[in-house]
Amino acid sequence: VKPQGGDALAFFDGELQFQASRRLLLAHELRDALADDQFELYFQPQLVHPGVVMGAEVLLRWRHPARGLLGPYEFIDFAEESGMIVAIGEQVLRKACRQLALWQQQPARAQLELSVNISARQFRQRDFVQVVQGILKETQIDASALKLELTESMLVDDFDHVVSKMQQLQLHGIRFALDDFGTGYSSLVYLKRLPLYQLKIDRGFIDDLLRDENEQAIVRTIILLGQTLGLEVLAEGVENAGQLKALLQLGCYHYQGFHFAKPLPLAEFEQFLQQHLAT
Ligand code: C2E
Ligand code: CA
Ligand code: CA
Ligand code: CA
Repeated sequence: VKPQGGDALAFFDGELQFQASRRLLLAHELRDALADDQFELYFQPQLVHPGVVMGAEVLLRWRHPARGLLGPYEFIDFAEESGMIVAIGEQVLRKACRQLALWQQQPARAQLELSVNISARQFRQRDFVQVVQGILKETQIDASALKLELTESMLVDDFDHVVSKMQQLQLHGIRFALDDFGTGYSSLVYLKRLPLYQLKIDRGFIDDLLRDENEQAIVRTIILLGQTLGLEVLAEGVENAGQLKALLQLGCYHYQGFHFAKPLPLAEFEQFLQQHLAT
């Protein structure tokens, strides 16, 4: 007996159609968002002990005309699948570099650094290096203020090719961070061959740092590994003083997280800077 077979199929069909039309709408809306400049950069301060602001990680927000301010989790996967992340990512990078250009004209802000997330699909583009070079030329920034955050998922591609792209950009002074470190599968051999500047310890290891001995061991290991390879190690997702204290004891002096500041719109980030310069 299969009384509900037909109905289930009909439901399945309907659900598929619903999802297909939702995706179509989202694709359309993302194109509009690019054209109408609905993407905004938020800035989460990155600090070095004992609390000096080095700069910020750039985090993308979408000011949707009907749904309000949306975080990346609402659209980034789709943007990645559909390939639109390439155009969006280029816009983010251009905006970040324009911001650096403005700061570099102001003595008090000239040292600020921005760290920009690069998606695997974006990095994989044939002309990625040329696109970045074009933006550097256009904005005339000192590119040593720019850090690009890559993830381990990019390293499964043709490794020599990845290294070559990084090296070409490094020639301009651009630096690289390996984001979400510890969640992927990078082998130590690979890690050693990559021209990296910074390892970012994934937030997932910081959240239980005070409770979970395994996570503590992982964090300790990542910090040691970073030190051994001569890399800067930054902890993300630091939410309280206890975590900060533990990190400092383990030898990690670079950090970001809600304990210091959430991702902020430009005006608020500049206020945050002012307060930190004042103290
Ligand atoms: P991510 O690169 O790992 O960024 C860190 C995320 O953790 C951000 O979420 C940030 O708001 C959040 N966060 C920072 N400090 C804390 C904390 O103390 N506690 C907690 N619970 N969360 C904290 P957000 O802004 O929602 O971004 C999510 C992800 O979206 C990012 O993860 C990144 O993978 C992606 N993303 C953001 N902006 C861009 C972009 O411009 N391009 C690309 N390709 N991806 C982006
Ligand atoms: Ca990141
Ligand atoms: Ca991260
Ligand atoms: Ca955890």
